Amino acid sequence: LTRLQYLHRIHLSDVLQLLDGKAIAKGILDSLRERVAQLVRANHPPPGLAVVLVGEDSASQVYVRNKRRACEQTGIRSVAHDLPADVRENELLALMDTLNEDPDIHGILVQLPLPNHLNKSAVLETISPMKDVDGLHPENVGRLTRGEPRFVPCTPAGILEILHFYQIPVEGADVVIIGRSEIVGKPLAQLMIMHNATVTVCHSRTKNLAQVAAGADILMVAMGKHHFVGADFVKPGAVVIDVGIHRVNDKLSGDVDFNAVSPKVRAITPVPGGVGPMTIAMLMSNLALAAKMQS
Ligand code: NAP
Repeated sequence: LTRLQYLHRIHLSDVLQLLDGKAIAKGILDSLRERVAQLVRANHPPPGLAVVLVGEDSASQVYVRNKRRACEQTGIRSVAHDLPADVRENELLALMDTLNEDPDIHGILVQLPLPNHLNKSAVLETISPMKDVDGLHPENVGRLTRGEPRFVPCTPAGILEILHFYQIPVEGADVVIIGRSEIVGKPLAQLMIMHNATVTVCHSRTKNLAQVAAGADILMVAMGKHHFVGADFVKPGAVVIDVGIHRVNDKLSGDVDFNAVSPKVRAITPVPGGVGPMTIAMLMSNLALAAKMQS
């Protein structure tokens, strides 16, 4: 679509659209469950995911539990490796080697962040690029940068699925991403470039952040700052993707102040129920791809 068509389309409806990641994720997991069941009926082993958790970070424990639950729902075999916070780096690297060699393990996930004494890059580089279902190995990062992705990091992949599902055009859109982490902001920027968006990436040193954000047709926020983004950050009729997850007063909410922003925008992801469930669905989907490539 041309930019004009894009803007026309976005203004076609003034009704706020809630981008329901939870429902899309359910559809993806349902179809994966069917595919896994077919494999098993044909006497193939189910895809296997090794989930490595180091230490007892409470947020990480919640994320890992959700991922393991998604495995159960889809018939994927998940193998837990819960290691103490003071595990030695060479022990962790040795575990990666063992998992790389294990033919029943098709994907390896190391939950981040790792304790400070461990070299994150060394650990991620030890995972076989063919089992790197988080898409963080340099080979997979490089492939995405070249526009030839194998495993796309799960959160950016989930965001693209949401945009596709709701037929929100990316081509020609002005996309502003707040955040440049290795796991969200940077791969999201690469993915958007690959899909012909015009991309601006903002971070903590960006000048006039609200003004830059307000230029976006699609604003994507992954900064880890609760309710930082208010109405002044959005252009009327924009699409807003909120990646942030915060537990405040026992309720989940995002980087975007939903109540302030939603009256102004065309579409927005809620927290919870937006990007989060899609991240998990794309992990399962990457694992299915890994199993297929290895079989
Ligand atoms: P991160 O590694 O902490 O990166 C945060 C980014 O935001 C950095 O690039 C930082 O800039 C930028 N930033 C921080 N404060 C800023 C400010 N005041 N102005 C402009 N930029 C600012 O975080 P992350 O791992 O990408 O995660 C971001 C959020 O998403 C967190 O809430 C996390 O829990 C959530 N998350 C959700 C999912 C999901 O599935 N929904 C998945 C992953 C993460 P600098 O680079 O300059 O420091």
